[in-house]
Amino acid sequence: MSGAVSLVYHPLYDGRGFSPVTRSWGRYREARELFSKLGIDRSITTIEPPLATIDELTLAHPLRFVERIRSLDAVGTGVFDTPDTVAWPGVFDRARAAVGATMEAVRLVTNGVSSHVFNPGGGLHHAFAERARGFCIFNDLAIAVRALSQAGLERVAIIDVDGHHGDGTQEILYDHGALHISLHQYDGRFFPGTGSVDETGWGAGHGLTLNIPLPRHTGEEAYLDAFRSIVPAAIRAYSPQVIVLNFGVDGHHDDPLVKLRLGIRTYRFLAIACHELAHEVANGRMIVTGSGGYDPGVVSRCWSVLLATLTGQLSEVHGLLPGSFLNAPSPDVTSKAILDAIGDANAWNHPFGCLQDRHNPVPDPNAGAITATTVHRIINGVLPLRLTKFGFA
Ligand SMILES: [Zn+2]
Ligand SMILES: [Zn+2]
Repeated sequence: MSGAVSLVYHPLYDGRGFSPVTRSWGRYREARELFSKLGIDRSITTIEPPLATIDELTLAHPLRFVERIRSLDAVGTGVFDTPDTVAWPGVFDRARAAVGATMEAVRLVTNGVSSHVFNPGGGLHHAFAERARGFCIFNDLAIAVRALSQAGLERVAIIDVDGHHGDGTQEILYDHGALHISLHQYDGRFFPGTGSVDETGWGAGHGLTLNIPLPRHTGEEAYLDAFRSIVPAAIRAYSPQVIVLNFGVDGHHDDPLVKLRLGIRTYRFLAIACHELAHEVANGRMIVTGSGGYDPGVVSRCWSVLLATLTGQLSEVHGLLPGSFLNAPSPDVTSKAILDAIGDANAWNHPFGCLQDRHNPVPDPNAGAITATTVHRIINGVLPLRLTKFGFA
């Protein structure tokens, strides 16, 4: 069960990234080295995309906002709309590269050239129509939904598994007919603060925003329970023509910014499940974006698992990777990396602190129970109300 798989990769990915977590900038290069080492690169076509055009950017952003980004690039310093996202010379083209790659993915899928396309630099889900923030400048996901719609694929489902709520995507598409599912850490304070089950969309989008908020310390079992209980049913009811998977992996227990406790095995399951859903309901059409993930070692392994799933090489890769990390469950204790980071206040004395969970890292033994309650509420209260027009009951 597969189809032609493409990787869209812009050379600017090898340079500076948007986040102040400088070590995360190397994740693209490190991942490609692992793809090559594992032989995954031989089964995929790598394509260099053009930069996004102004016409593409304005599918989701007003021209005055695009011009403001270009002007700050020319100044070469300063902050955009929140201090976590700063200007530097070249940032405009870097942001256009991320969108251009997702637009290339849209063209490859709509033209039938590839079934599955991965843009590791896409998934900038915190970008609002007129606000650049949360390491995101232009929202390639919202732009892609509008472009897919123009190409005749009007039913698009976004499944956002990044550890943060996809607030920008939600805002731009709130009254749009796309299904937007987001699973994320949530307590009303953790960045970006939104993403409750009560945010459900309006107008043509009424009922199509589906948030699955999870408490910190949610581990693999509770996370996958929530996913299995809600996502396949919602996807089947909506029956999208294309699935956009925002495959942020910052919910991994070794990631420094989010305090979910997922493992590589969790992401393997998510890749397999979404891939199967794409073949079941969307004729295989699937666009995947990289989004968050700040530990290059974790990111490159998760992306390898993703591509091996899409190319049907998972069993081969399993044998090639060191140790048995594919089967490693998320740990019961908060990872050492997070404890170390939180213990050293200076390590987080940076403007990007807003994206990080600063709470006391004492494990919450009730995380699973809270998740189960949320799942129960969504299945029994939210989903029947929201998706009835698509046959979900
Ligand atoms: Zn496939
Ligand atoms: Zn994130």
